[in-house]
Amino acid sequence: MKAGTETETNARRSAFGRVVETAFELVYPRSCWICDERIVGAEASGGGRDGVSSGFRVPLAALVCDECRRAASVPARTFCRRCGRVALRETARGDDALCRFCLRKTGASEFAFDEVRPMHFYRGTTRALVLRLKRTPDPTLAEIAARLYFESRRRVLTAFRPDAVVPVPMNWRRRFLRSVNSPDFLASALARELGVPCWTKTVRRIRATPPQSAVDWEARRENVAGAFALSEGKADGPLERLKGKRILLVDDAFTSGATANEIALELKDRGGVEAVCVATLARAGLGKGRRL
Ligand SMILES: [Zn+2]
Ligand SMILES: [Zn+2]
Repeated sequence: MKAGTETETNARRSAFGRVVETAFELVYPRSCWICDERIVGAEASGGGRDGVSSGFRVPLAALVCDECRRAASVPARTFCRRCGRVALRETARGDDALCRFCLRKTGASEFAFDEVRPMHFYRGTTRALVLRLKRTPDPTLAEIAARLYFESRRRVLTAFRPDAVVPVPMNWRRRFLRSVNSPDFLASALARELGVPCWTKTVRRIRATPPQSAVDWEARRENVAGAFALSEGKADGPLERLKGKRILLVDDAFTSGATANEIALELKDRGGVEAVCVATLARAGLGKGRRL
């Protein structure tokens, strides 16, 4: 009898919930933050376009459609942990897989950073997300990107045990033109997910670099050589705080690795950083015949 009453109450409650949800959707129809398609049948209720910033955590299912969420998760092929190229199937031991270039190298890596962890290739949904992030000055979108990244790369991030998150600084001219600093937004959102500080002023560009149009690795490396410096005693605190730390370096996309390499060099040589892991949404520049 009692159980019956409870069931009836629950049914009434869930019916009421559905009415509220439908009414809410009529006022605030939910559309996917990446593709703009209407989100139907999302498990979660509540939240509008300002859901994340309104204090409670809106589930990803209410912000990104199932298709985009699936497409943005880790692709079938694994990325090489050292350089981000496609890893060889035979070495594909999950997160430790290597590509044929890195497998041959027994000594030091060609990069100053220790790992690179892309979420996906720079195409389809991930490309749409990266481009939207560059154009939309909305922290909610950055938070969504960070949550998608965290969802698919949680294991490697946790294993790396970062002490702080540092964004790749943007060229001020490009920042002015785009008006959105997507690596900054993304880094802050990722730091919140990880519960570690975000040091946005630690690395700065000391000279503008021409766009990385060259394909050749050496040319790209020369392009960014000496372009970055560590900020002494600025808002993030004295440089000594970097000593022995493990840094998660964040960029929206990763092409040749020349920029991340240059910053990792600076962080290690001048800052005494122990390890650098590059977190990036998209691995670009893997076109046919390209030497990265
Ligand atoms: Zn979508
Ligand atoms: Zn590799």
